[in-house]
Amino acid sequence: MIISLDIGGSAIKGAVASSPKNLAPLGRVATPPDDFDAFAAAIGRMAADAPAPPQAPIAIAITGVVDPATGMIKCANIPCVDGRHLGRELEERLSRPVLVANDADCFALAEAIEGAGRGHRIVFGAILGSGVGGGLVIDGRIVTGPGGFAGEWGHGPVAATSAGSPPMAIPHFPCGCGLRGCVNTIGGARGMELLHRHLHGIERPSTAIVAAWLAGDSEAARTIVCQIDLLASPLALAINIVGAGMVPVGGGLAQAPQFIASLDKEVRQRMLRRLDTPLVVPGQLSPDPGLVGAAILGFSERDT
Ligand SMILES: [Zn+2]
Repeated sequence: MIISLDIGGSAIKGAVASSPKNLAPLGRVATPPDDFDAFAAAIGRMAADAPAPPQAPIAIAITGVVDPATGMIKCANIPCVDGRHLGRELEERLSRPVLVANDADCFALAEAIEGAGRGHRIVFGAILGSGVGGGLVIDGRIVTGPGGFAGEWGHGPVAATSAGSPPMAIPHFPCGCGLRGCVNTIGGARGMELLHRHLHGIERPSTAIVAAWLAGDSEAARTIVCQIDLLASPLALAINIVGAGMVPVGGGLAQAPQFIASLDKEVRQRMLRRLDTPLVVPGQLSPDPGLVGAAILGFSERDT
């Protein structure tokens, strides 16, 4: 048995896994953002309430990057865990083995083993959520790289400064990482809203922009065409570099299959490999790929 947790800035979701394919939900609680004692206690309660042995390992998918050399986590969304050796500190408090991994990496692992990437040696999981993230899985194992940053295609000053048809000027917007012009600034749901505001001077949530696009609204269509234009080149480059055989997409924008289909078409026109079948596809393990990925990681670490 593995206690599997998916921890985001707003909620801790849990499941107890008897195998990577069999997860029984444990519900969700609000993430305590600023109080580490409350954070650890919330995890301890969820694990204690699970129908699992008291020593069952906990495997965590979390919004944050874990340095594989030190175990230290960088986590902007949950200040009380930022800079901690989270796995070790939770092990000491909860007296159980605790594994901690980046949620985008867990998404990629889940999709590689049980989802859209099944049968492919190299799977690049792309997250288009509130921002842009990613994870790389090769031969069924997460590739973290030094620092834990492998797969993070969302950062780096690479966004084009004109996009769409006819081309519109797009500034290099500042990113939370300290750089400007990151794909993260224009590629996710917040990026879509930023582009819509920049192009049309209108504040709209991404869900409304997508709905308007699908209903034939010309302003929304211009925003979406610009965003896909900005996303497609860096994603095609990432695919060229890692040689991905499949690119499952997670996060809120993956809930719009038409958006992902448009992105896929554009990406396949900009990468070197010629392919007549979809490569960039919605993940199949919605709504909880992070829980599945954490469980797979938990079982694989237990068995090695
Ligand atoms: Zn950035």
